[in-house]
Amino acid sequence: MSARRSPEVAIVGGGITGLSAVHRLMELGCEREAVPKVTLFDAAKRLGGVIGTMNRDGFLMEEGPDSLITEKPWALELIERLGMGDKIVGTQEKHRRSFIVRKGRLYPTPEGFHLMAPARIWPLVTTPLMSPLGKLRVGLDLILPRRKGDSDETLGQFVQRRLGREAYEAMAQPMISAIYGGDPMRISLLATFPRFREMERRHGSLVLAMWLAARKSTAAGKAGGRASGARYGMFASLSGGLQELTDELARRLPDSCARTGVSIESVLRTRGGRWTVTWDGGKADFDGVILALPAPRAVEVLRPLDDDLARRLSFIRYGTSATVGVAYRQEDVDHHLDGFGFVVPAREGLTMLGCTFAHRKYAGRVPDGYVMLRAFHGDRSDPLSDDDLVEATRRDLGRLLGITSKPLLTHVTRYHESLPQYGLGHLDLVDEIDQRMTGYRGLVLAGNAYRGIGVPDCVRSGENAAAAIMDAVAT
Ligand SMILES: Cc1cc2nc3c(=O)[nH]c(=O)nc-3n(C[C@H](O)[C@H](O)[C@H](O)COP(=O)(O)OP(=O)(O)OC[C@H]3O[C@@H](n4cnc5c(N)ncnc54)[C@H](O)[C@@H]3O)c2cc1C
Repeated sequence: MSARRSPEVAIVGGGITGLSAVHRLMELGCEREAVPKVTLFDAAKRLGGVIGTMNRDGFLMEEGPDSLITEKPWALELIERLGMGDKIVGTQEKHRRSFIVRKGRLYPTPEGFHLMAPARIWPLVTTPLMSPLGKLRVGLDLILPRRKGDSDETLGQFVQRRLGREAYEAMAQPMISAIYGGDPMRISLLATFPRFREMERRHGSLVLAMWLAARKSTAAGKAGGRASGARYGMFASLSGGLQELTDELARRLPDSCARTGVSIESVLRTRGGRWTVTWDGGKADFDGVILALPAPRAVEVLRPLDDDLARRLSFIRYGTSATVGVAYRQEDVDHHLDGFGFVVPAREGLTMLGCTFAHRKYAGRVPDGYVMLRAFHGDRSDPLSDDDLVEATRRDLGRLLGITSKPLLTHVTRYHESLPQYGLGHLDLVDEIDQRMTGYRGLVLAGNAYRGIGVPDCVRSGENAAAAIMDAVAT
């Protein structure tokens, strides 16, 4: 490379991971006085990936992610650095509770029940969501021995082992499925919620550990009020929806950086140690490449380079999901909808996995006098047409909330292979992939396939990839 030429870097994938990577490359380039020439490729016409906010007739509806978990700071820090801190909004405190469906009815999630375990005993004792025997079985957690060894197990196995099958089926399963869109019996504990294993290891009991943690947090004045439930805890968004973040990142891209509507087919090493990126009808060479793609897409792009690497990546399973937004006039809905939404246990046999009361979760998203609900569907949505999916959503809402009116507005968004479901041994698999990647200087993988599926995780992943590429192309 000539001493005077700026390093050339390609980012493949313009979701939040790729956009964060470009932004960080620019920041680091300025700091180091060596701004790279960046090209961002995305197969879609619009940048942002699964992040999208519909804004129609006064209704603001998130199509994909709707919240940032605040205990993971990376997305919020990026928003602050972009000068958008004043747009961050919290959830509406007065409606901060959630529901779980049992036999076709909604019951409040027991206060203090966090994702898969209770931090408070009394709300669990009094909840109609479980039978007396099921509750006694939860209590056994206090005396059951710790698991020996540190091997992985699934979230489902873990909860059933500690708290029993009923607590799993009635509460933990629907909460976890509403996050991952998949079956907790196939999702790795260590790759998703290692802190629960750590709680067991340290305290011998999940219930005791949760109780101690809640007490500590209350003492520290950090208790989250009446917040409970998987998707309804300590969350934040942007006043105009999360697409404001990706739009701002896209707006700041250097001139002629974005190549949208270009699907990358392969990334191959040149004799001189650079990287050739190929697409239908074109190719170009770069000093560094960040692949910010979901694993199934990375598999396709990397297979020509390294079949073994592609094979390992193909073990990272992705689920298919869909969201269906519906809006009604307030007077057409009898239910109070006083919460952020509900989750549906698989044994209820409904189509949807859960539903957000979107007009309650964040303020100012619907005109006065209207309600807006967003149903979240998993793999079961795959064979259904959009019309059938809306119909299934209406049927479920009719059964659960008694809504019979036709919605004033419907909005369906589908996500094919977009949400990873980290399987057993995922962390070992990612270590193997990392190991394999050490042989490819200047090529970095980033995104939700590896160490976290949330938007904040993706921001961190993209930013780390940018730092790694800067180091690689600088030497
Ligand atoms: C319905 C849903 C709800 C969610 N809810 C939340 C939530 O509330 N909070 C949260 O933190 N997270 C949530 N997530 C997870 C989070 O949104 C995603 O993990 C994250 O946005 C993924 O970003 P990404 O950039 O890695 O991937 P993506 O957004 O999938 O972007 C990948 C990009 O790569 C492009 N691409 C694909 N193949 C090629 C190719 N060959 N060449 C060029 N470009 C290509 C695509 O067009 C796309 O733009 C949710 C996800 C979904 C699907």
